[in-house]
Amino acid sequence: MLTAGQVLQLIRDGSCRTRKQLIEFTGLSRSTITDRVDRLIEAGYIHESGVASSGGGRPPSVLDIDATSRLVLVADLGASHARVALTDLAARPLAEEHTEMRIERGPEAVLSWVRQAFRRLLDRTGRPAAQVCGIGVDLPGSVDHTSGRAIRSFLMPGWDDHPIGPAVGADFDVPILVENDANAMALGEWWTSWRHSDALVLVKVSTGIGTGIVLNGGIYRGVEEAAGNIGHVRLHEADDRVCTCGSRGCVASLSSGHALATDLGMETSRDVVRLVQAGDPVAIARTQEAGRTLGIVLATAVSLLNPGVLVLAGDMAETGEHYLTGIRESVYRRSLPYTTRNLEIVTSSLGDRAGIVGTAVIVMEHVLSPEAVDAALASSRGRARPDLTG
Ligand SMILES: [Zn+2]
Repeated sequence: MLTAGQVLQLIRDGSCRTRKQLIEFTGLSRSTITDRVDRLIEAGYIHESGVASSGGGRPPSVLDIDATSRLVLVADLGASHARVALTDLAARPLAEEHTEMRIERGPEAVLSWVRQAFRRLLDRTGRPAAQVCGIGVDLPGSVDHTSGRAIRSFLMPGWDDHPIGPAVGADFDVPILVENDANAMALGEWWTSWRHSDALVLVKVSTGIGTGIVLNGGIYRGVEEAAGNIGHVRLHEADDRVCTCGSRGCVASLSSGHALATDLGMETSRDVVRLVQAGDPVAIARTQEAGRTLGIVLATAVSLLNPGVLVLAGDMAETGEHYLTGIRESVYRRSLPYTTRNLEIVTSSLGDRAGIVGTAVIVMEHVLSPEAVDAALASSRGRARPDLTG
């Protein structure tokens, strides 16, 4: 016997668009399907949108996800920026705010800004807090999923073991999900542009280097939540540059935005982008070389996973084609031709919104999962739909 939450999945994944299709697909009785669908409509998870063509008689109405009656608050935290957004349940941003803020300022300062910005987003859009059904935060470090805490980040001193959920979501009684930024960006790019692909690898190159892997529609995190940590592969152990991790010769100490900025006598990876965009020949040559060096490690990732898409994101994606060209050269030169035959190597289509969109998708997938929907329906029996309670 299917639950209402499981019926919702059949509508979400496109298996069924009408009550009649649900009856045929599941073999359940008309009264059972009517009960499930009515409860999903009542709770604002789905609505009837237009009519499907039929072979005669009254045309059946089409069942569709109602993405507008529930809201998601998301925060995308980088080494030197913070961005927040209010989105609907289709990960579409309704309002955003952005500030330059160094994550080294520590969790109290950064997360209290996030909490106040969440409040401003709701005020600005006039949407009630009761419509918020989940909160997501992505940050530039590894994350322990069960506790929602940051672990082992070289870019985030002072954040280890800090409870992020209570600091941003104390005003809301909703699930709070914390994710690594490259993982979130990878899911955002996959969900927006590459849903037909079974494997996507995203490499984010800004101050540091991070990688997100999406396999069969889900983030692959590894047993220690450390999958994709390719920035600290020690490529040239004889190199005398010391990496943020304390080792020498890491690919991050050669190819990250921080490494490029240091080499070029600049402050940040953003400065490097500006120099490249201005056509500085030394900066362009150094950027391409950094892309080639990272491409050596990415060739191994491509050979291992055989992805359909390799996405370059972060500041270095904004250097025109320069960093990307370096990556392409190494990946193609160092991989078997049939491994890369159908590989697309592209820059991020979402740009600096990739983290926001991906984190909203993570919350959406959680909130609309069969277990979460069934639990919400069980606890809200007799209560009005959420958009009337605010
Ligand atoms: Zn390192």
